Amino acid sequence: MTYERDIVRHMAGYVPGEQPTDSGIIKLNTNENPWPPSPRVIDALATVSAESLRRYPSPSAAAFLAEAATLHGVDTDQLVATNGGDELLRLAITTFVPPGRPIGIAEPSYSLYPILAAIHDSPVHRVALDDDWSLPAGFPDELNAAGVPLTLLVNPHAPSGRLLNAAAIARLADALEGVLLVDEAYVDFADPDHDVVSLIAHHDNLMILRTLSKGYSLAGLRLGYGIGPASLIQPIAAKTRDSYSVDAVADQLGAAALADPGTARASWASVRRERQRLTDTLRGWGFGVPDSQANFCLAQVPTDAHRSAASIYAGLKHDGILVRHFDTPRLQDQLRISVGTPAQNDALLESLQRQLER
Ligand SMILES: *Cc1c(COP(=O)(O)O)cnc(C)c1O
Repeated sequence: MTYERDIVRHMAGYVPGEQPTDSGIIKLNTNENPWPPSPRVIDALATVSAESLRRYPSPSAAAFLAEAATLHGVDTDQLVATNGGDELLRLAITTFVPPGRPIGIAEPSYSLYPILAAIHDSPVHRVALDDDWSLPAGFPDELNAAGVPLTLLVNPHAPSGRLLNAAAIARLADALEGVLLVDEAYVDFADPDHDVVSLIAHHDNLMILRTLSKGYSLAGLRLGYGIGPASLIQPIAAKTRDSYSVDAVADQLGAAALADPGTARASWASVRRERQRLTDTLRGWGFGVPDSQANFCLAQVPTDAHRSAASIYAGLKHDGILVRHFDTPRLQDQLRISVGTPAQNDALLESLQRQLER
């Protein structure tokens, strides 16, 4: 006898990238920031008191929201803190999508989106990206025709790293009849003048997802947030969100992280430099690599390498280097490589070069 809903019985669960316990492995597979978090975060951790653990945390994660409001120049009622960005995705679906109505996505993108849609009993309306991973011209019209109340768009795009500029996001928000959630999980690594947050003042259907997992080196903390007009944010913050999904430790440590942007910014600058080096080197070896504004590169294996992406993935793993290979029709000849420290990237390139010579 099984008791779960049919939809749950028939769906596949999210498959996370491997998380080996061996610390000698060079992990370039799950887009973590290769640099440590701010020392101020570790200081804040040391001051967590027994009393703050005995009591329930601030329901809104007030300390964190105050720092985020300062950082972005918005009001705290335009922000909601969540248990990782992933929780915000789930809450956006719960809040804006009547069960059974379709959720709009571009394909390929974050593999969690269809899973969250399935749990909600919603079909997914998928629009295939063009060959260069750009959005097809008819994207908003197609989603409007399908009656999509919520579109999830990752920008910079995963897994290609391609960035849609703010003007294009503004046009998309104007054109879409439903809510546009721009998933900016990787935006910290984009060129610094890219700014979508200022658009929320003029677009009442535009919401932004941010996370401390990537840019602030805090994937283990589980802290993300949404930015948007209060009319979009407050139904989540005041109604659909769990009362205490952000714990007292995440509230304090998240605030400490945003209060010390210098450490994080230095890591972003390093990632940008190394991203360029990886891109240039891989292109020099014949790989197809789109311009990335994220902390990873998507590398298409050259056909004259006479090696499949899957076998290169396995060869790298044999050398103690993990990257990501997606076994789907459009991605099976590609490797997604997170940008590491210079030493990690050297090791990656050395192993890769050996594989290609074989
Ligand atoms: C990492 C990521 C998120 C959010 O991750 P959290 O760790 O839950 O904050 C959201 N979208 C994409 C595309 C991501 O890669």
